[in-house]
Amino acid sequence: MGNNKTDAKELAKQLLWDRRNGAVRVSPEDMSKAQKFNEGYKAFLNAAKTERESVTFAVEQAEKSGFVPFDPQASYRPGDKVYYNNRGKSICLAVIGKKGTKAGVRIVAAHIDNPRIDLKPIPLYEQNELALLKTHYYGGVKKYQWAAIPLAMHGKIVRRDGTEITLDVGEKPGDPQFTITDILPHLGKDQMQKKLGEAFTGEDLNILAGSLPLDGAEGDSLYKLNVMRILHEQYGVVEEDLISAEIEFVPAFNAVDIGFDHSMVGAYGHDDRVCAYPALEAICRCKEPEYTMMTVLADKEEIGSVGNTGLASEFLNYFVADLAAMEGEEARHVWGKSNCLSADVTAAFDPTYASAYEAGNSCFLNHGVGLAKYTGSRGKGGSNDCSAEFLGWVLRVLDGHEVLWQIGELGKVDQGGGGTVALDISRLNADVVDIGVPVLSMHAPFEVVSKLDVYMAYKAFKAYFMAD
Ligand code: MN
Ligand code: MN
Repeated sequence: MGNNKTDAKELAKQLLWDRRNGAVRVSPEDMSKAQKFNEGYKAFLNAAKTERESVTFAVEQAEKSGFVPFDPQASYRPGDKVYYNNRGKSICLAVIGKKGTKAGVRIVAAHIDNPRIDLKPIPLYEQNELALLKTHYYGGVKKYQWAAIPLAMHGKIVRRDGTEITLDVGEKPGDPQFTITDILPHLGKDQMQKKLGEAFTGEDLNILAGSLPLDGAEGDSLYKLNVMRILHEQYGVVEEDLISAEIEFVPAFNAVDIGFDHSMVGAYGHDDRVCAYPALEAICRCKEPEYTMMTVLADKEEIGSVGNTGLASEFLNYFVADLAAMEGEEARHVWGKSNCLSADVTAAFDPTYASAYEAGNSCFLNHGVGLAKYTGSRGKGGSNDCSAEFLGWVLRVLDGHEVLWQIGELGKVDQGGGGTVALDISRLNADVVDIGVPVLSMHAPFEVVSKLDVYMAYKAFKAYFMAD
């Protein structure tokens, strides 16, 4: 018999998966690189709060790294870098590989739209001497979380004469900000008796936009008119111009470190800019790869990847088809040999809400980039369910490049669920697996991630782009 305890320890090391915290498993170099990488990430978060701003940021970064706009009539050589800007709301970036598209392409796909508060087509009204804006929320939000926080206005107005205005109000010092009001607790009796999901309705998400009437005037709608006067003075717009506008209200606060140890980042819209930024950084640093490598930053994921800038559209398929055609290949043959990391966030285990998770199959902060073999809900409904072969290959690649990774489900079986762009890309006959950064308070106006996990997402995408 003798030393059973030591044997068990030794055997566990050989046979059991290492589930210790990343802080004790990664090198001090990686810990400090994670700090540095997240400074760049925070700058991106503050510079790009919407899909349009994320594409603008991506184009700028890409051009600095030698990417040029894609020309379907041109021909490209290995190492060439091209991007396709789809309507300023989604973007494909590709580095041409030595093996050509006939060997298949490799894609990291993330999304750059976030849950937010959009304006209705006819938003501006006044009531009881306040000017307010009617809204229609975008994506899966817990509505009560969006009241009583500062909001900034981003978006695009196309005037009747065709000229365009890009809006960004509430981000610079001295800018006005906006807010959705809530009832004070002293008078909240009726609201407090309602269920959480019913206490705040979509029609209650009205944005406070002004409180003064038009100066020195008499007549109707003077509060509304005063706001319109200011908008006309500042942007040259009339009420009718708002009808076609895309105006998004997002939390006005900036990204900050969270925790005494500065180990986390709190910000609006980690989902899914926390995967988009590492994916962009990885493709910008990708040089003369064997396979053609791509990063796709897509719009509309939060509402089902719909529309011509979402990944349910054919824009990615057509882009790959154009690359294939240059080499005399058929897109469908290319897709059959292609694979993709569907880079989207996953839920991080939250001890305060432990009952929603199965701890043994959850992702934890500081355990690295989080994989999900399948998403969906209620019996894997609506999931991609990646194959053992492809997942096995991905894990070999991550292990081979010292990427700290973990794997988990979104929550308990039958607790709920979610979807990603994995389905849209698997439909093209590529192998796909979900991988991304675990998030606390996902879809809240202020979400939290671990810096180490963000850095490991970057390392994972880089490893994927370098793999044989
Ligand atoms: Mn997402
Ligand atoms: Mn989401």
